[in-house]
Amino acid sequence: MFEFLFDLVFPHNTCALCRKPGLYWTGRPWCEECDRKLEATRENRPVCDRCGKYLCGGDNQCQDCSEQAPPFFIARAVGPYEKCYKVAVKLLKFMCRGYIAVRMGRMMAEVVKNEPRYWPLDLVIPVPISQPNLMKRGFNQSEVLARNVAKALGLKMLPDVLVRVRETPSQRELTKEERQQNLKGAFDVRDCEKIRGKNILLVDDVYTTGSTAKECATVLLDAGANRVSVITWASGKGF
Ligand SMILES: [Zn+2]
Ligand SMILES: [Zn+2]
Repeated sequence: MFEFLFDLVFPHNTCALCRKPGLYWTGRPWCEECDRKLEATRENRPVCDRCGKYLCGGDNQCQDCSEQAPPFFIARAVGPYEKCYKVAVKLLKFMCRGYIAVRMGRMMAEVVKNEPRYWPLDLVIPVPISQPNLMKRGFNQSEVLARNVAKALGLKMLPDVLVRVRETPSQRELTKEERQQNLKGAFDVRDCEKIRGKNILLVDDVYTTGSTAKECATVLLDAGANRVSVITWASGKGF
């Protein structure tokens, strides 16, 4: 209802992704051409059966997953972290175009709906961001996405159960092993009762090395969750 009123008063007059003029609204923030581009970018690309990373070779699992099975049950993304998918993340995080999260969240929910291995699900939980980033941005993009995913799936979203308890140095320059080590003790669960025995859908914007998703899944499972699956808007490449 709020979304409808907002659109009525403030319709968008350019496509959120390519800025083509026209009439756009929250449920349809980009043009048909951008829709086609998003579709074409993700078409017929083989992904790791377990973590959803885009594969270059002919195997059905990436190297990471075949070396060590991830703690989560399954991870998938709407598309690869490139081109228009990357643009959408930038717009959402840095360009104050939070309204595109509604459509992004619906597309993420669609992936979950169409993959039977996700089900049954009980709860949606966003990956918490670091305090400095939260202060800088004013919002957690994963929480905004999680809210829309949960709404589209008819599930409850709990934003304050998985929390960040320790700040970590930037992950950017680190190797895979260092990243995992760097994140140890960064997350904690408040109120374990809320997740005990539950099948959880963990939501993040991008899956790159998977170290964040893996650490969050481990913490949730240690706190008593039955199963954790992951959905992101975009995913990186695996080998
Ligand atoms: Zn467009
Ligand atoms: Zn994998």
